[in-house]
Amino acid sequence: KGILYIVGTPIGNLADISERARRVLTEADVIAAEDTRHTRKLLNHLDISTPSVSYHEHNRLSRTAELADRLEKGERIALVSDAGMPGISDPGEDLIREAVQREIPVVPIPGPNAALSALVGSGIPPQPFAFIGFLPRQQKERVRELEKWRLTPATLIFYEAPHRVLAMLKDVESTLGDRQAAVARELTKKHEEWLRGKVSECRRWLEEHRPRGEFTIVVSGASEEEIREQQTEELVWWESLSL
Ligand code: SAM
Repeated sequence: KGILYIVGTPIGNLADISERARRVLTEADVIAAEDTRHTRKLLNHLDISTPSVSYHEHNRLSRTAELADRLEKGERIALVSDAGMPGISDPGEDLIREAVQREIPVVPIPGPNAALSALVGSGIPPQPFAFIGFLPRQQKERVRELEKWRLTPATLIFYEAPHRVLAMLKDVESTLGDRQAAVARELTKKHEEWLRGKVSECRRWLEEHRPRGEFTIVVSGASEEEIREQQTEELVWWESLSL
C-alpha cells in the first residue's frame, strides 16, 4: 500500500513552507490539488516538477475512489489545498476518510493554518476552542447557527469573506453578545493586521475601513455567568410549569 500525505502549504507567505513539505511534494508520485494551476505556482517557486491532478469540491466524488485505488496500488499521494491545511474548510475530508477505511497509511505534514494562527495571536484563552469555519451566507441561517454556540464555554473561531465580515460581526454581537474578539486580517502577509477588543469595537472600525483581504475572527466563549443565567431561566420555566 502507498501513503496519503496531507500537506500544509503557505497561507500567504511562501517562506512558511516546511522542509518536510518540500521533500514530500518532491518525492510523491502525484499531488492531488484543489486547484492545479494555483498549486503549480507554488511548485514552480519550489522548483518541484511532480505531476498533479485536481481534487476539488466538484470532482471529489469520482476522484476519491480513483485516488484511493492508486494508493492501494502503492502510490504516494500528497494532498494539498490552495492554502493552509487541507480538510480545514477545504477539500480533503472524503479522501482522508476513504484512505482510513481502506487502512491506507495517512500522514499529516503540519503546515500553516489561519484558524490556529489567529487563535494563538488573539489574546483570548486558546483552550478550549471550537473551530466553526464559515457561517451560512443567509442571515437567518447564520443566526440559527450562531445560536447553537451561544452557551458553549469555548473560544470560537470563524472564517469569513471580506464582503460579509461586517454582517457577520453584527450577528455575532446580537446573538452571542458584545464579547471579546480578535479580527486577524492577511495573516503571514505584508499587510497583516489585527483588531482586538469588543465585537462592537471591531465592527465599528471595519465600518470606517472597508474590509479587504482574508479574515479570521476569534470570539471568546460563553462566560460561566451567561451559562448560569440561562440555567436559572430554564429552572424558572420548569418551576412555572410544575405549579
Ligand atoms: N485550509 C485553510 C487553513 O488551513 O487555514 C483555510 C481555507 S478557507 C477556504 C479560506 C479562509 O481562511 C479565508 O476566507 C479566511 O477566512 C481564512 N484565511 C486564509 N488565509 C488567511 C490569512 N492569510 N489571514 C486571515 N485569514 C485567512
